[in-house]
Amino acid sequence: MQESLQNINVQRLRSFSAKDMPVDVLRLDRIHPVVSGNKWFKLQFYLQDAIAQQKNTIATFGGAWSNHIVAAAFAAKASGLQSIGFIRGDQQVARAETLQQAAAYGMKLSFVDRETYRDKASVINAHPDPGIYWIMEGGYGELGSKGAAGILSSADTSSYTHILCAVGTGTMLSGLVRAALPGQNIMGISVLKNNSGIEAAIRSLLGSGQRHQPFSINHDYHFGGYARHPAELIRFMIGLWETEQLPTDIVYTSKLLFAARDMLLKNHFPMRARILLVHSGGLQGNHSLPPGTLPFL
Ligand SMILES: *Cc1c(COP(=O)(O)O)cnc(C)c1O
Repeated sequence: MQESLQNINVQRLRSFSAKDMPVDVLRLDRIHPVVSGNKWFKLQFYLQDAIAQQKNTIATFGGAWSNHIVAAAFAAKASGLQSIGFIRGDQQVARAETLQQAAAYGMKLSFVDRETYRDKASVINAHPDPGIYWIMEGGYGELGSKGAAGILSSADTSSYTHILCAVGTGTMLSGLVRAALPGQNIMGISVLKNNSGIEAAIRSLLGSGQRHQPFSINHDYHFGGYARHPAELIRFMIGLWETEQLPTDIVYTSKLLFAARDMLLKNHFPMRARILLVHSGGLQGNHSLPPGTLPFL
């Protein structure tokens, strides 16, 4: 873990930056070729807690292209724990590259239909094994938030005035808010459509009554909803690769980068802002594209 963290670094985006407004990317995607950056941070305290509680297995949830599933499989193995992934869909999805990687890390895969998947409590109740430590989908929860707070100390981030990240469950963003210094603005780009409950979900992760730096969520860049990827977004991803050699994924980081560029073009940021974009890793979603769609991966 310590060793891999040294690979994290900050990249200046020349095509986004202006003379007095640098735009940098925190490359959490460089932590590990398979394990998604932010999931790795979010999982740390869950694994410690599982071990402290003398559990022998972690169990969690995800879809066929889930960065969280692969990261959980890898992290469990690295911590000497067994893992079970409850996967939305049937055996058909077992061929997905992502799930094969998870299985290669020793994760036992259990397929559940969509209806059952929505009712997580029913899955948990059907497996009353006291050795199992349950982790919510995407690592959502207070320990995930505390783990994600470590993201900002993985490089020197103290001079940035605006820190932007993609938002799914909001766990990562809540961690950035925890770790933010006075004067730093944390801005989230929601990748889900009709995600109006997200602000409240984040406030609940932060704990009511706790003092924290302010945050905001932008809902304008979901591109039609979760994992939707119109041609305009794919073209943007290819362009970003060609100009900056920055790989992004269709679910999260492409939407973050697109939003940042669009806001820069619209002069959204104050003069002399110093902007940091958190590349949260996780390119698994790109495996769902037809081969050859992207020049990287
Ligand atoms: C899961 C994930 C996110 C979203 O993180 P949340 O904590 O759920 O908001 C963002 N980026 C990548 C690459 C992810 O895998």
